[in-house]
Amino acid sequence: MEPSKLEIVDGVHTIPGISWSRAYLIEDETLALVDAGLPWNVGAVLRYVESIGRKPEEISSILITHSHPDHTSGVPGIVKRTHAGVLAHADDTRARRGDEVSLSYMGVFSGLKLPLPFLERTPATALSDGDVLPLLGGIRVIHTPGHTPGSVCYLVESRGLLFSGDTVFSDGASVSRSVPFPGYDGLKYRDSIERLAGMEFDTLCGGHGEPLVGGASDRLRDLLKLRPDPPTWRGFLQSVPGRLLHARGLHGEGP
Ligand SMILES: [Zn+2]
Ligand SMILES: [Zn+2]
Repeated sequence: MEPSKLEIVDGVHTIPGISWSRAYLIEDETLALVDAGLPWNVGAVLRYVESIGRKPEEISSILITHSHPDHTSGVPGIVKRTHAGVLAHADDTRARRGDEVSLSYMGVFSGLKLPLPFLERTPATALSDGDVLPLLGGIRVIHTPGHTPGSVCYLVESRGLLFSGDTVFSDGASVSRSVPFPGYDGLKYRDSIERLAGMEFDTLCGGHGEPLVGGASDRLRDLLKLRPDPPTWRGFLQSVPGRLLHARGLHGEGP
């Protein structure tokens, strides 16, 4: 198939029609997803797979960047249709029974003791930092705690591409960091961002916003030079009127 605008680099697509976050399709001998959007996005994911001439049953795994519901609540619907395995960092999972784990969000919801049954019912395989997944020549798991304890980025070395979840966002031109959230750890977040800034990747595919193609790790280093401190809610809220005025997204820190 001719590469379309939705195919960001060879074998990596952004899936259209995901309402709030972003989900990506990895196209190799088998297929994989990076995150899965909301429950009502399942149809959009499966339709997109068919639109590129592949079958939903070919989705063998779903790589979770972190356990927030806007990235994971579509998972059960996709697993039901495909039997895909779910991969997530151990720190965003909890023990289920025996060696099994399921997705878990240790943030505001667990503090409020609100049941999130879709997470508890989603069995997962726990990943660790440094694991290499056999897709696109090897996808390296980089544990980047901060936004959530088990946030990870996935580095596709053969494509110079980083899936950054909600650890780093982009708007197609520049990159930004996430504001504190329940479950956030500012010190770990700072370390994680610095670790990413020491890596080389050309393209950044974040959990929200337009992917950034070209010079992505340079943009991250530029940002840290300009503003070493991660954003705060105070600064974020001050930037909201300007963002609305200029139709900028509400994710991550201000420009
Ligand atoms: Zn998040
Ligand atoms: Zn998110």
